[in-house]
Amino acid sequence: MFQSISDLTPSTESARTLRGLHKIYWSGDVQIVALRNLNLDIPYQDFTAIIGTSGAGKSTLMNIIGCLEAPSAGDLWICGKNTRAMSESEKSDLRSKAISFVFQSFNLITVLSVYENIELPLMIRKDVSPSQRKDIVRETIQKVGLEKFAHFKPNKLSGGQRQRVAIARAIVTRPSIVLADEPTANLDSKTAQQIMDLLIEINEHYKTTFIFSTHDEKLINRVRRVVRIEDGTIV
Ligand code: ADP
Repeated sequence: MFQSISDLTPSTESARTLRGLHKIYWSGDVQIVALRNLNLDIPYQDFTAIIGTSGAGKSTLMNIIGCLEAPSAGDLWICGKNTRAMSESEKSDLRSKAISFVFQSFNLITVLSVYENIELPLMIRKDVSPSQRKDIVRETIQKVGLEKFAHFKPNKLSGGQRQRVAIARAIVTRPSIVLADEPTANLDSKTAQQIMDLLIEINEHYKTTFIFSTHDEKLINRVRRVVRIEDGTIV
């Protein structure tokens, strides 16, 4: 039922291939080089941490991998297809079906319940019937351990629980890749480790590729691969 992009092109070796990527921002007349000549391969079903200090270029890199921003120069291949050859509607289709995001500040909709927040990305999917939607949302709520909180509003939940809702909302479309930008930055260290446990379990269960950024060195022994970024480039 859910066709992910990796199913479309199973022959390519990497979910993402980045070559010679540059990203330049302008602040008035001042040029800010956020990424410089960056090369990276991300295998399918990988669990990678992008680690670096604030301003190193982590968010910019995640935004480009997630097709939210275009590079200023260089190439990004998604499952073997160069994004330069993709139309805007192809990229938008990818963003709604194959790519999901988790943010540091959860970004939940406060007037909706836990169930409704998680259900939201499926509401726009014409290929998912209401009864399928119900089954998928229920399974996803169970996966993140929030069955008892389905009808709560986010403001009644702890930080760790809110991030579980955000993770459930990210995986409810069964994307091939989840990009999590500092997902544990607003959590205490015990809760951060629990969120890592959940992300690792989802990576194994749904075979989702995970990339998360962090500046927390304590989390890096939990992941398969660490990419260190400094001053816009991998070190
Ligand atoms: P990190 O996520 O590691 O903190 P960012 O990717 O947010 O780093 O930022 C990298 C550099 O690019 C920083 O110098 C930041 O100030 C700059 N930058 C990021 N986004 C923009 C933008 N929209 N406009 C101008 N400069 C930006």
